Amino acid sequence: MSEPAPSDLVLTERRGAVALVTMNRPSYRNAQNAAMTFAIDAAFSAAAADDGVHVIVLAGAGDHFSAGHDIGTPDRDIHKDFARVATQYWPHQDKAGAEAMYVREAELYLGMCRRWRELPKPTIAMVQGACVAGGLMLAWVCDLIVAADDAFFADPVLRMGIPGVEYFAHPFAMNPRLAKEFLFLGERMPAERAAQIGMINRVVPRARLVEETVAIADKIAAMPRFGLALAKKAVNQAEDRMGMRDVMDATYALHHLAHAHNALTTEDHLAGQDAKSMAKGLR
Ligand code: ZN
Repeated sequence: MSEPAPSDLVLTERRGAVALVTMNRPSYRNAQNAAMTFAIDAAFSAAAADDGVHVIVLAGAGDHFSAGHDIGTPDRDIHKDFARVATQYWPHQDKAGAEAMYVREAELYLGMCRRWRELPKPTIAMVQGACVAGGLMLAWVCDLIVAADDAFFADPVLRMGIPGVEYFAHPFAMNPRLAKEFLFLGERMPAERAAQIGMINRVVPRARLVEETVAIADKIAAMPRFGLALAKKAVNQAEDRMGMRDVMDATYALHHLAHAHNALTTEDHLAGQDAKSMAKGLR
């Protein structure tokens, strides 16, 4: 399996007023390492600053949108330093105890996701195949989610003893009872059901995913730019006043209690799980 060059980890293509931002690690089901996270951020920032771009579509190359955070590819970069853009934390890689993971994930996961959710232009996640764990975070930060009929959604990290991925939008992306089912069972939720419960906007045939998503993006792109930014902010503010931001802060502490507990009781903060063992049993 070959890893794309760092400059090719994320590709941006312009289709009229739509920027199609594509994660490009198809050999690893677009597992997110830090390098790819910063490449997504750079692509989003460029699209946000470009007056010609009205709508941003986030996609994944290959058969899957994203299998989640990189917990097992050769280019996993968990112990590398990086330049922080979402927070002002210090370098994490040489820190002991709970500090390293807490600081790293504050920047890379919670911080980045919140930053992307606040992009002042409409964003659409275009999802096919797996949208699992860290993949959910990427879809959930987008304003709309359009999925192919082969897409499925799952957060199986409870198998590591962890109460859901870092960007804890679960009880907002679906109702609280379904959020518990989603977390407790860690099962795959098919696109059809995700649409029924209102977690995603549309399900379209796999062969028409790009066409249908870009058609929706084009329609949005014709609306007034500032009005779109204000409408987006209005709904985001409503979610925050319903408690989403506070819930995420509170749950981030529980998330890191779980990482610390794992580190104290097993060999690492993931409770000895890796990509292979996590994929097993995800049905
Ligand atoms: Zn974590």
